Amino acid sequence: MAQSDVSKVDSTLPSCKLEEITDEDGLNKTRLFCQRCPSLVLSPKQAKLVKKEFFLPNMFQKNEHTPLEGVTLSDFWLVTNMMTFDNVGFSKAVNNIMYLICADCEMGPIGWHSVHDKKAYYIAVDRVKHG
Ligand SMILES: [Zn+2]
Repeated sequence: MAQSDVSKVDSTLPSCKLEEITDEDGLNKTRLFCQRCPSLVLSPKQAKLVKKEFFLPNMFQKNEHTPLEGVTLSDFWLVTNMMTFDNVGFSKAVNNIMYLICADCEMGPIGWHSVHDKKAYYIAVDRVKHG
């Protein structure tokens, strides 16, 4: 099934992979795309790589129920202003957390946002395509 590739518990990316997508300032070197469709999520040099552990449910579509199973991820792109995104959608807030989803195909979560912190939007490195 299409979901099997994102449900593995391998949550930490090898540092060589992270170096490939990060510039000398720790910013994203490449554009970030949805994994399922050509939608552009973020342009280069707009987000900073941060280490932060956060549990994300497995990928699902907006009209489906949120899966209970998921994975704790630790590599995220931090965006400080919502206007920085090229395209992004949001799920409904649950326990003050909104999930970031693709604006076009509505697959997600590709990241998360706490309603208590208006200056922090996290995109999971593992959940977007870099290129
Ligand atoms: Zn998409």
